Amino acid sequence: MGKVIAVFNQKGGVGKTTTNVNLSACLAAKGKKVLVIDIDPQGNTTSGLGIDKNHLAYSMYDLIIGNAEVRQCIYDTKRDNLFIIPSSVQLAGAEIELTEMEGREMRLKCAIQDICHEYDYIFVDCPPSLGLLTINALTAVDRVLIPIQCEYYALEGVSQLMNTIELVKKNLNPALEIQGVVLSMFDGRTNLSIQVVDEVKKYFRGKVYTTLIPRNVRLAEAPSYGLSIIEYDAKSKGAEAYCELAEEFLDLEEDVI
Ligand code: ADP
Ligand code: MG
Repeated sequence: MGKVIAVFNQKGGVGKTTTNVNLSACLAAKGKKVLVIDIDPQGNTTSGLGIDKNHLAYSMYDLIIGNAEVRQCIYDTKRDNLFIIPSSVQLAGAEIELTEMEGREMRLKCAIQDICHEYDYIFVDCPPSLGLLTINALTAVDRVLIPIQCEYYALEGVSQLMNTIELVKKNLNPALEIQGVVLSMFDGRTNLSIQVVDEVKKYFRGKVYTTLIPRNVRLAEAPSYGLSIIEYDAKSKGAEAYCELAEEFLDLEEDVI
């Protein structure tokens, strides 16, 4: 059975999309079959993987509204083992349309039910909000991967994030667990980054990945070419870090099994 994971933090700009794209690409390069689901109307995962979100027959919008079958919404990213359900501009309107719909929190879960077993991992990139799209993501997954940026107030908003996870767990998805916490935009030259790592490790005891994702300009450049970091600059510090994270992720998976 494939494992379904949401990349979630309601704060914007913390590295959700960067982690989603690059961890998925690294796992796919290691031979795991991966499906990326972009449920963020901004569609940065979609464009980051080189897909033009303006010219799609079907997208996440059609899937969640019920206009299309799941297989019609899955696209080949033209990379080995890496597939995507892309976002599109219409998805922004789905939040409102969903409020009127039956089973509005469970629509993604129901829509992907039949295809989960076809992938080793499915990663859902969440929008930076706590609306119905995020609730759909948290209801559809087994686990949550939380990126946290190494900056002032890194833990600000984390209690709200944990409350949301608890609420979803209580009401919609009892099996929901935290997969792990990824520290992003780490700068080893600053005391601040080092302090944040300590603080986050104290808060999320045992859940924080040892691999730290450094601040690396190549990671910020890659999406504008529609490339993952291992395609754009495989020798960069960012590529090294995401490959290492993928290895750590898989090692921990084996421990669980
Ligand atoms: P989110 O999805 O949480 O909003 P993003 O992954 O889009 O966050 O990252 C926000 C911005 O920071 C983007 O412009 C991205 O390219 C850049 N970025 C993300 N991670 C890094 C990093 N480790 N080093 C440098 N820039 C980064
Ligand atoms: Mg994003």
